[in-house]
Amino acid sequence: MRRRLFPLFASLLVLVASTVLPAQTAPAPAVPANAPYKDAHLAPEKRVADLLSRMTVEEKATMLAGSGWMESAAIERLGIPSIKMADGPMGVRSWAGSSAITNLPGGPLKVQSTSFPAGVTMAATWDTDLVTREGQAIAQEVEALGRDMILGPTVNINRVPLWGRNFEGYGEDPYLSARLGVAYIKGVQGEGAIPSVKHFDANNEEFERHRIDAYIDARTLHEIYLPAFKAAVQEAGVWTVMSAYNKLNGTYCAENAPLLTGILKKEFGFKGFVISDWGSTYSTAPTVNAGMDLEMPGGAPARAMIASPRSQLSGNSGTWLEADKVLAAVKAGQISPATLDDNVGRILRVIFVSGLFDHAHTAGGEVDTPAQQAVARQGATEGIVLLKNAASLLPLDAAKIHSIAVIGPNAAVARTGGGGSSLVRPKYAIAPLDGIRERAQGVQVTYALGVGMVGENPAEDTPEARAKALKEAADAAAQADVAVVVVGRTSKLEGESFDVKTMDLPAGQDELIEAVEKANPRTVVVLNTGDPVTMTRWIGETPALVEMWYGGQEGGHALASVLFGDANPSGKLPVSFPKKWEDSPAAANYPGENLKVNYAEGIYVGYRYFDSKNVEPLFPFGFGLSYTSFKYSGLHVTPGTVAGDGPVEVSLQVGNTGTRAGAEVVELYVHDGHAKIDRPVRELKGFQRVELKAGESKALKFTLDRAALSYWSPEKQGWVAEPGRFEIQVGASSRDIRLRAPLELTR
Ligand code: BGC
Repeated sequence: MRRRLFPLFASLLVLVASTVLPAQTAPAPAVPANAPYKDAHLAPEKRVADLLSRMTVEEKATMLAGSGWMESAAIERLGIPSIKMADGPMGVRSWAGSSAITNLPGGPLKVQSTSFPAGVTMAATWDTDLVTREGQAIAQEVEALGRDMILGPTVNINRVPLWGRNFEGYGEDPYLSARLGVAYIKGVQGEGAIPSVKHFDANNEEFERHRIDAYIDARTLHEIYLPAFKAAVQEAGVWTVMSAYNKLNGTYCAENAPLLTGILKKEFGFKGFVISDWGSTYSTAPTVNAGMDLEMPGGAPARAMIASPRSQLSGNSGTWLEADKVLAAVKAGQISPATLDDNVGRILRVIFVSGLFDHAHTAGGEVDTPAQQAVARQGATEGIVLLKNAASLLPLDAAKIHSIAVIGPNAAVARTGGGGSSLVRPKYAIAPLDGIRERAQGVQVTYALGVGMVGENPAEDTPEARAKALKEAADAAAQADVAVVVVGRTSKLEGESFDVKTMDLPAGQDELIEAVEKANPRTVVVLNTGDPVTMTRWIGETPALVEMWYGGQEGGHALASVLFGDANPSGKLPVSFPKKWEDSPAAANYPGENLKVNYAEGIYVGYRYFDSKNVEPLFPFGFGLSYTSFKYSGLHVTPGTVAGDGPVEVSLQVGNTGTRAGAEVVELYVHDGHAKIDRPVRELKGFQRVELKAGESKALKFTLDRAALSYWSPEKQGWVAEPGRFEIQVGASSRDIRLRAPLELTR
């Protein structure tokens, strides 16, 4: 009976507390040992209500600001633990301060853990099960290191090829990003660690990221920049969302009520808490009232760390939600007690649902275990995309070749990821040269730098030294059976807080490829980048091209296994590769003027643009070659005529018609040619990665619902599927549609 009465009693208490507490500072009553909120069997909502009713307004105010660089505030009197965080998302990294400090070789608190492949690499696998296993592996490392929360996944859309953080995200398509974001979050939360899906919303360029204002119409927001967050909330039940640095439609994301309360909390039904990006708050009451629940970082040392000229320019001090400011705003009636309870209640809820209140994570467990390494290696391998393979130069047959020249500024160094807060410090990292040497037993492997990486060794970067290095590379290539040139960027050229300067490869790398190809026509070019690069000068002559992205600590092993055919490449591009920067959809609307960037290309991002506006990309979205071939057949759409919400089943057969085992990513697109509104010629609404032995064939099934046929109507302010004839297209890339079938929607 006491239990059944409790919810009402608790709500009354909350109400009373909410209306009375701000004015009083009476000593808090003692907490009984059997207080309901301590009962792990009680529903989280009940625990939250009970705990809120026992908190003083000062304690509540304290909880809205961090207590350190990566720690939320603990309230010891009540046993509320601090949430101990770490970046994220490609593994666990030092939580001792900003990446500018912790990425330094002698930086504080050296944390070494598994360096998983970059987000874009994982996206190129199109393997949701693997991404879930990555989430699990990362969560296990979070907990083994005594932390509770991992700051990821990053699901911002790749809008321009120059965004410095493209490597962190899952590419240009909202559906693909949503599926992979959900997979990662489920993996993390399933282990009891807390993820944070970021950065909400429209953090699509680093240029002036603390001040830039993204102007995006409602349809574009709903169709392109929100779906991955919506799926994170509605399908994965994500526990936290990180707000972005930038402004959206005139207001900073961290104080954007239409975004945080209107869309996230009301429209999507988000029950967790919103955490600020590190130093992305600009006010007290407007921030709290907008629905931003926890400001990070906090505490004096952290404040000092974010006191950069850039954040000062934008008016950020990282102190906006400190307890005294929040209390003053509550007392002045600018923040209502109910709002304060909502913010604090959300943080408490996550502490309960994640299990953190009942089971603290204690450090001392193992990281970088063989199982975690295996996940990293599988991701790096499956993520490699074979872009060109003329005359079947690949795979290399170690029994037939005698020598390989491995060349390039990214050959002997393991470039595991892009720069900034996601760069993990692994215990070991396999460079392409290491991986090839280890695999190519019995084959002579030579190495030449070819060209120094821009900025890495300025003292030795003279015209004479460059000419000498280029000649050595050409000689090495000429003397070998095969040349492998590994080019690309570094974490200093592609990373957080700055955009990539140009789509072109860093200085000297085009010349290097040309010289090597001239010296040896059997040249494989390997790209080690997070974004597409300009290839105009050499792509016509290049027989074999491989995009390895950033492969984490196992990148070199993965590359070697694909080059030698131990693994059959199965990665597909999660982003279109334009021929040149000017062809990219938002080139005319980047980086913006007067601190405003107008997303005037609207929904025409990535292949939506290339395919609808008839611009030919260099390599299309969803493209990737294999060492075997696949045949698609027998497409059936059942029922072919559907009304209302009724699910539609799409089935087909995919067969491996070649002589080796391989995996194919089968992509399902919907074409709507009848809508009143302009729609892209096709949109991805399903995909499956299927493993097939040589000669094997498998039946695949997809289920489509009304959402797959809908667009966001500005007129109706909601999703609309217009009756009429749709076309279901199934193919191997957005430009290689193999099967088509009609689908009639009657109402
Ligand atoms: C980044 C976030 C990161 C945070 C904490 C910020 O600068 O934008 O992605 O999680 O720092 O390191």
